[in-house]
Amino acid sequence: MTDSTRTLLADAARRGAAYLESLDGRPVFPHEADVERLRGALAGEMPEASAKDAEVLAFLDEYGTPATVASAGGRYFGFVTGGSLPATLAAHVLASAWDQNSFSYLSSPAAWLFGETSLRWLKGVFGLPAQSAGALVLGATAANFAGLAAARHAVLRRAGWDVEERGLRGSPEVTLVVGEEAHGTIFKVLPLLGFGRAHIQRVPADAEGRLRADRLPRIAGPTIACIQAGNVNSGAFDPAPEILRWARAGGAWVHVDGAFGLWAAASDRRRPLMAGFADADSWATDAHKWLNVPYDCGVAFVRDPDALRAAMSISGDYLMIGSKDPIDLTTDGSRRARGFDVWAALQSLGRRGLAALVDRNCDQAAWLGAELKRAGFEVLNEVVLNQVVVAFSSDARTKATIGRLQKAGECWCGGTRWRGREAMRVSVSAWATTQADMERTLRAILAAAESPGR
Ligand SMILES: *Cc1c(COP(=O)(O)O)cnc(C)c1O
Repeated sequence: MTDSTRTLLADAARRGAAYLESLDGRPVFPHEADVERLRGALAGEMPEASAKDAEVLAFLDEYGTPATVASAGGRYFGFVTGGSLPATLAAHVLASAWDQNSFSYLSSPAAWLFGETSLRWLKGVFGLPAQSAGALVLGATAANFAGLAAARHAVLRRAGWDVEERGLRGSPEVTLVVGEEAHGTIFKVLPLLGFGRAHIQRVPADAEGRLRADRLPRIAGPTIACIQAGNVNSGAFDPAPEILRWARAGGAWVHVDGAFGLWAAASDRRRPLMAGFADADSWATDAHKWLNVPYDCGVAFVRDPDALRAAMSISGDYLMIGSKDPIDLTTDGSRRARGFDVWAALQSLGRRGLAALVDRNCDQAAWLGAELKRAGFEVLNEVVLNQVVVAFSSDARTKATIGRLQKAGECWCGGTRWRGREAMRVSVSAWATTQADMERTLRAILAAAESPGR
């Protein structure tokens, strides 16, 4: 390595650290002027001449840094977003230098081993069957796709139909059962698998967004049910034990979308929410949400490894049993090696640290919910996990409050529609969030809600 590469990487690390140290004083959403300044700086055509590496990095920092969203800090509550734990960020930096292609054991034994170890440990955290296949993928969307592709294979196989060979033309009808408050990605992924939205049976949900088990349809023949551990608004869990009883009686495959909810299993206090979910057939979750690893990283598990392999294998050859290469278990060929980041997060936290992270965020959400109630606002959900859904008297005032809050830059919370009403959603998912951050956030929310002109 030349001196200039060493200097360049040291400079990148120095700038990254300075950025993280600046987070507390930074607007959580960038000022419009800083975004415009970046837009202007990027407006030109691709240069003819080469630039010095150090100048490329300096440009990124000078124009990019002020336009970033401070989601790596402790006061970003949008969507469901974790920052990067220090150990996993450092691992990510080192692994970027390694630049490993993780599609197979042969392309990188190190990537394969860290990936396998991460998946084995995660099965332990979630209480999933040890023989399940696991795959590190883009996110929960991709993990839902993987689980449902395995489901499609398995339910049609049982009906005597080889879907990978023959496709869906002329196949037996597959019944699709989904809760009406399922995450939007389910309604994106099922059509990608050839299942049109018009053919999805949507089961009514209760006030917390939980699929109502008493409204499950009568089923016969190939059936796939999608249930959820952690509604993206309320954080509520579908009644898995009842749904699983229904599914077992009718022969349905049950897929669990647990993008953030699956992590409840890491904590003794929250694990009861996960009752019954480990009896399902496939599971999707995210590591870039509650495990606080860098983007992007989702995780898929499938109880029957052969079903996932049959759905995803590049050769379509089921006889390659024993192969556990990501190229045969995911949509991907060449891919980054997410196992380094996941392993580093799990190794640095340990079981106790992971439980403490989940519990701390849940306690912070419960505290905020209670304070907002005390201030006279309506908390629309039971705060069972890390999500708080709040309304400010009228839809108009709720919208105005969210707008003012986002503009003020002290924190960032997004808007949502919940059971027919405008609402603000607060998702507490970051290792970096302190009680001081929560108090600052509460003050900012109260100021935004009370400001004149509501
Ligand atoms: C975030 C989320 C998804 C989608 O996850 P991505 O990582 O954005 O692909 C799916 N389901 C639920 C419940 C989620 O919270």
